[in-house]
Amino acid sequence: MKKNVRFIVGLVLGVAVLIAGFVVYESYSSTFKTKKAAVPVENKLSNKQIKSNNSNGNGISNNCEKIKSSSPEARKKIIVIDPGHADRSNLEKEPLAPGSSEMKIKDGGGAEGVVTKTPEYSVNMSVSMKLKALLESEGYTVKMTKTKISESLGNVERAEIGNKENADLVIRIHADSSDSSKVSGASMLVPEPINENTKNINEKSMYYGKTILNVLVNEVGMNNRGVVQRNDMTGFNWSKVPVVLVEMGFLSNAEEDKLLCSDEYQNKLAQGLCHGIKTAVK
Ligand SMILES: [Zn+2]
Repeated sequence: MKKNVRFIVGLVLGVAVLIAGFVVYESYSSTFKTKKAAVPVENKLSNKQIKSNNSNGNGISNNCEKIKSSSPEARKKIIVIDPGHADRSNLEKEPLAPGSSEMKIKDGGGAEGVVTKTPEYSVNMSVSMKLKALLESEGYTVKMTKTKISESLGNVERAEIGNKENADLVIRIHADSSDSSKVSGASMLVPEPINENTKNINEKSMYYGKTILNVLVNEVGMNNRGVVQRNDMTGFNWSKVPVVLVEMGFLSNAEEDKLLCSDEYQNKLAQGLCHGIKTAVK
């Protein structure tokens, strides 16, 4: 009997020790397992977050923008858009250049569609507003010299808006006209280096003008009439910041007149200009 009792006690103790050992091991290993398992869960979450951000198309770039905006040297590029002309002419005069005795009319009025009779200021304002929206969606800061067709600004006034903003680029939006109904296509006017202002901005304006014009004509598919330097434009001579003036096509050409007045073609022009600016102004 005693032997049996000792055996049973021994057996019970042995089993108890085994159970205790197992419990301790389990609790240890489950803690370890949980810790181990926590890593992939976190990874999964962060992967999910990155994926969902990417699927919105702005996850990583949002972060980049945040970093950029917190960095003082990485300020957003400022583009000033200057829609040409107004629904009224402005026959007051202003000096052609700083210190010049030569006076020039502020705004004699723009062209008119040979077929549609659409005034140039209307085409200029439509494309300008479309370009503003596109540039803003690309992260540019955009300032308009005017947003109402009734505002008839002088060219010194327009130039001073660009100067005050310390713009990276001023782009003046116009449509052309010619005595010949056959002439078509786009050209880019830039300041000729004739005074202190234009000497400082000529090189950049030339580069921006050439780049933007080439992208525009390639994308829209029209005649490239090239970059022309001008010394007779008040808005250029007063500018202290790079400035270009795009002539987007001829309102005196029946085909281009109809195109320039269509919403679809205006969208194409705005897109071409936006891509040109993106390529040029970095
Ligand atoms: Zn014009």
